[in-house]
Amino acid sequence: MLMLFGLEMDLETQDILWCLVKEVGSHVRGFRVGDHVGVGTIVNSCKDCEYCNNGLEYCCSKGRISTFNGIDVDGTITKGGYSSYIVVHERFCFKIPNEYPLASAAPLLCAGITVYSPMIRHNMNVPGKSLGVIGLGGLGHMAVKFGKAFGLKITVFSTSISKKEEALNLLGANNFVISSCWSCGVQAAKVAANENESCTKWQQNEEGRAAPTAR
Ligand SMILES: [Zn+2]
Repeated sequence: MLMLFGLEMDLETQDILWCLVKEVGSHVRGFRVGDHVGVGTIVNSCKDCEYCNNGLEYCCSKGRISTFNGIDVDGTITKGGYSSYIVVHERFCFKIPNEYPLASAAPLLCAGITVYSPMIRHNMNVPGKSLGVIGLGGLGHMAVKFGKAFGLKITVFSTSISKKEEALNLLGANNFVISSCWSCGVQAAKVAANENESCTKWQQNEEGRAAPTAR
């Protein structure tokens, strides 16, 4: 039996969003009007195939209904975060505590779950383990924050010295490594090992001085 409820959106991207519950279907048990909820990239699936029954709804054999640019059960095209209201099956909604800042919750729905899921799958939630994070963009940022919360030793690898301050002092990573020269592409490890690689601009880059010219 399909259980649907309506949502009013306040802040969103195109394929993930958070919403305020405006209506709930009579069979909905997990949510009430006024709840804050997050919605990921799926709003519905068959909920009864081998994939849906194993938590792999995005592989639904009858076709998942994507939050954005999917064909819904009534034949309309889903418009995700561009909509004023959407209807989502409760299976694909995630409760956000009403006192939790929604602007902070939004990154958890995409970047957050993307790094949290493999970290848990590989037991990277045990204090004292070492975590390497390559790149300090949206996903890397969340990986460092989860790593800190789990008590891991974190090393951030980046091609940009401009991320060093944020990695070490703002996010609290333990180590920061420049992984390559952003000008010539020489890898830091090769320079350190003198493997016939050199970068005359290396010191300049590490100290964040004026942009060197390409070799
Ligand atoms: Zn299915």
